[in-house]
Amino acid sequence: MIDLSFRPEDITLPVGHFLSGKVVSGGKDIAVTSPGNGSLLAYVPEAGPELVHEAAQTAARVQRESGWATCAPRERARVLRRWADLVEQHSMELARLETVCSTRPITQTVGWDIPFLAEGIRFFSEYCDKIGGDVAATSSSLLGMAIYEPYGVTGAIAPWNFPLVMASWKVVPSLAAGNGTVLKPSEMTPFSAVRLAELAVEAGMPAGLFNVVQGTGLATGEAICRHPDIGKLSFTGSTRTGIAVMKAAAESGPKPVTLELGGKSPQLVFNDISSVDEVADRIFRAFTGNAGQVCVTGSRLIVQRGVAEPLIAALVARCGQVAAFAPWAAAASYSPIISEPQAQRILNLVENSVKAGAQSLAPCLRMNSEEGGIFLSPGILLVTDVKSPVWQEEVFGPVLAVQTFDDDDEAFALAEHPVYGLAAGVHTASMSRAMRAIRTLKAGTVWVNRYGRSSDFVIPTGGFGGSGIGKDLGRQAFEANLRLKSVLMAVE
Ligand code: NAD
Repeated sequence: MIDLSFRPEDITLPVGHFLSGKVVSGGKDIAVTSPGNGSLLAYVPEAGPELVHEAAQTAARVQRESGWATCAPRERARVLRRWADLVEQHSMELARLETVCSTRPITQTVGWDIPFLAEGIRFFSEYCDKIGGDVAATSSSLLGMAIYEPYGVTGAIAPWNFPLVMASWKVVPSLAAGNGTVLKPSEMTPFSAVRLAELAVEAGMPAGLFNVVQGTGLATGEAICRHPDIGKLSFTGSTRTGIAVMKAAAESGPKPVTLELGGKSPQLVFNDISSVDEVADRIFRAFTGNAGQVCVTGSRLIVQRGVAEPLIAALVARCGQVAAFAPWAAAASYSPIISEPQAQRILNLVENSVKAGAQSLAPCLRMNSEEGGIFLSPGILLVTDVKSPVWQEEVFGPVLAVQTFDDDDEAFALAEHPVYGLAAGVHTASMSRAMRAIRTLKAGTVWVNRYGRSSDFVIPTGGFGGSGIGKDLGRQAFEANLRLKSVLMAVE
């Protein structure tokens, strides 16, 4: 096996914004630290409204003047394919920039994040010349059409949990559809997006079409949301921030929004599963992957009484087997928590849930790694009250809340959440029960006898209710970056 380990001090960080095809530094506003060892990595400048304005105006001008939207769509596709190739060629460099400040272990950024990013760019490139609009059935004296056109400039705001992949789900369909775009990565993970944008220019994308501005939500994110030249917003993050984004979009437009928000996704396990061990592996991965810092974390286990005891025992045994290594270590597979306040919030939530009556089956505790860093062990809590904080709130950490049930109706009732509807998992040998679950569960995605996305980019992803509006991935994500213009021509 290749040793992928590296030393953070050996990495050259692109510190700054990316404007008009150049890294623009200056300003030391935001300290970026590594969750892997707590070290200070860099100070990053923050873009205020003036810089956001410059980024949006530049993107608008370049989008208008460069021919990006008006060239033969296959030419746009060719640039995007070259971009994907360059991402693969710079896989190690991008993976290190991602790993150094985030929770993503180097084995996973090399093995999953970067290949997934490259293939995602190829996926959206394939839509460039596939979606043009419709010709309407009118009388022969008229020609009626509904034609798609880009918005001009879109705004993209991304979270820290999968910095590159999440950002790419917003900017790539937008660029493929012919727009310019302004991206704000999370202030905690600002580096890899700059390199991604540089590679786009290297691939032949007009400089200034894809700009990256650094900063916090209040200083920079708000300015993007409210900018008059930004015609559409795509946001991934918490439900609370999503509401603020939508408010800003309403007050400054109104402009359309795609919102990919939080979740509290249930996993339903029925007595008829064929292998407790296999299902335990799946459930365990689903709440400990990226240390639970995944929007679709399967954080609520709803298990039928006949299989509850062996399944819970198998999960508790797995909790004791994780080891903490800094993300850049060759042995790293379990992720740190992104920040100290986030770790404290998780521990408080667990403590409050226990005080409110939840029973701790596996304790969520601080773990030590050789290099320091912020690690929490996977925890499991048995709950009997649906009002328990760990049953209600998005933990965004490695904590599983468990309830048992007797019959299917009880399971479906427990799966309901008053706010979230992002994803759900169903584990059963009965296809008729699975079909009933698919129809009953209020979730944007239902996985049956698996948990988590595949590389089938064509399947859209997005939540219901408080989990969001619209879809990332799929044809739908491409179409969301286009607006429909109706045309009626008198031809006689
Ligand atoms: P967050 O809401 O704190 O921040 C997300 C982004 O929004 C950051 O870039 C932040 O700087 C920016 N922001 C903050 N306030 C803003 C404001 N007022 N206006 C504009 N931008 C603002 O979320 P986070 O902690 O970075 O990410 C974790 C959350 O993201 C979790 O709730 C998780 O479920 C969600 N998430 C959802 C999906 C999905 O596909 N549904 C995917 C990943 C993460």
